[in-house]
Amino acid sequence: MGLRTGQQYVEGIRHRQHASIYVMGKRVTDVTTNLFLKPSVLAFKATFDAAFEEDTRDLARVYSPIVGEEVNRFNSLHTSPQDLVAKVKLLRKLSHKTGTCFQRCVGWDALNTLYIVTRRMADKGKKIYYDNFIKYVADVQKKDLALAGAMTDVKGVRTLRPSEQPNPDAYVRVVEERDDGIIVRGAKANITGIAVVDEVVVMPTRAMSENDAAYAISFAIPLDSPGVKIVVGRQLNDARRLEGGEVDGLPYMFNHEGLLILDDVFVPWERVFLYKEWKEAGVLVEIFSSYHRQGYAGCKSGLGDVIIGATHNLAKQIGVVDKSHVQEKLTEMVFLNETMYSAGLAASWEGRKLVDGPGGFWVNPMYANVTKHLVTRFPYEIAKLSHDIAGGLLGTAPSEFDLKNPEIKALIEKYLQGVPEFTAETRLRMIRLLENTSLSVAYLVESVHGAGSPQAQRISMQRLYDVDAAEKIAKFLAGMGNRPVDFRVEPHKKSEAEKT
Ligand SMILES: Cc1cc2nc3c(=O)[nH]c(=O)nc-3n(C[C@H](O)[C@H](O)[C@H](O)COP(=O)(O)OP(=O)(O)OC[C@H]3O[C@@H](n4cnc5c(N)ncnc54)[C@H](O)[C@@H]3O)c2cc1C
Repeated sequence: MGLRTGQQYVEGIRHRQHASIYVMGKRVTDVTTNLFLKPSVLAFKATFDAAFEEDTRDLARVYSPIVGEEVNRFNSLHTSPQDLVAKVKLLRKLSHKTGTCFQRCVGWDALNTLYIVTRRMADKGKKIYYDNFIKYVADVQKKDLALAGAMTDVKGVRTLRPSEQPNPDAYVRVVEERDDGIIVRGAKANITGIAVVDEVVVMPTRAMSENDAAYAISFAIPLDSPGVKIVVGRQLNDARRLEGGEVDGLPYMFNHEGLLILDDVFVPWERVFLYKEWKEAGVLVEIFSSYHRQGYAGCKSGLGDVIIGATHNLAKQIGVVDKSHVQEKLTEMVFLNETMYSAGLAASWEGRKLVDGPGGFWVNPMYANVTKHLVTRFPYEIAKLSHDIAGGLLGTAPSEFDLKNPEIKALIEKYLQGVPEFTAETRLRMIRLLENTSLSVAYLVESVHGAGSPQAQRISMQRLYDVDAAEKIAKFLAGMGNRPVDFRVEPHKKSEAEKT
């Protein structure tokens, strides 16, 4: 099949069996009708619909040599810089359709990472994981499955290794080996879209030592596997979804994150992609995090477009759009937004093939880290500028239900209107859109911590930059040394993934 419609995806997750999902203390049986989760279902659904809508059809589909047919790009393996560029562009476009995080890129990045990692092991003589993975990815592509990616362990004491933790389950581990598979235990935190997917791909979250071998584990399981429990997290303003309004919750598509608990879950051997290969864990993390950091260029600049557009409209509604400081601030927002995007495109165009076969094209790790590091800062700047222009009503506006109450409706219409060609309702609509996007988890907290906290990028950039080579250049120009002969243009070192 290869391509499902959005409606087929919704039907698929409606009919799951065992999935134990909890929202605000209550078990949810049907995520597609649950008011808290429905916005997430709609955002995820948009990634399926994109393959059928005229303005994204070409971006959202790609031929897969693995199954010999077109598949949804979110389940594809990258074979060229063009594929990586298409990823960033697709993510930007999807932000325009959803106004939030559409939650499908972590699973996508996990697939591309595991292709490289299992292929590297196959090239070194251990073929079983590659064979498992290729069968798995073919199945995912043919069924057009919705995947979550689970890397971040709950981690207990941050400074201790998995095997040193007071809680031995602070990192996901294997607690039993059987003839037909393994039993895994542990929990993964902050997992995007976890309640609304078909399957989850689990990966280690850090470099490991030999003592951590039981924790060096990667596998995929259906969400309704016995023992899987999901506790959905809360977000600012989330109760608006339960109110039955049609303004206050705009854009009415939202992401969610959740705690994924693996309470002694059975994983058959054919779904295991890494086990006890502790030396591979660090490289896996480097490959995944670079893919994921590159992707943020697309989704966050797309949300930036929504915020810039909303701010421009609100400036019109109160009659200040032509003022020079407003124009300057809007230009600054554009500059910040396009800078993040440009870095992601550079990370894509400057990518490189790491392993042979129908996948294995990786990003430029330096530019991917630069991209994500910009993303840890610029959305906050853009949000601040948008709040400046929108005015204080952004934090004080009455609810849509006040506007609908005949007792005060006329007064609100009179006093919230700015420029006469707009109405109080249009102002309220745009205010709510701006509030719910610019203050959202998807735009702010995720920008800081998703794909790793800021320090993680700084450590990567420090490792990748060859400061000694730069010093040699400076010493030559200062008359303190010979002209260095170096064929590299950028003084960048090889990443771990490229070294081995
Ligand atoms: C909205 C959102 C969506 C996400 N989606 C996903 C997802 O789909 N899948 C997934 O796997 N993960 C996901 N994440 C998790 C994300 O990757 C982590 O939040 C991130 O890696 C940071 O880990 P942490 O939250 O445990 O923070 P911590 O690691 O606890 O970091 C908190 C602070 O402690 C510092 N710190 C941590 N360890 C050390 C140390 N050893 N020494 C010195 N300082 C240290 C950090 O630099 C940081 O400043 C998501 C996160 C968010 C916020």
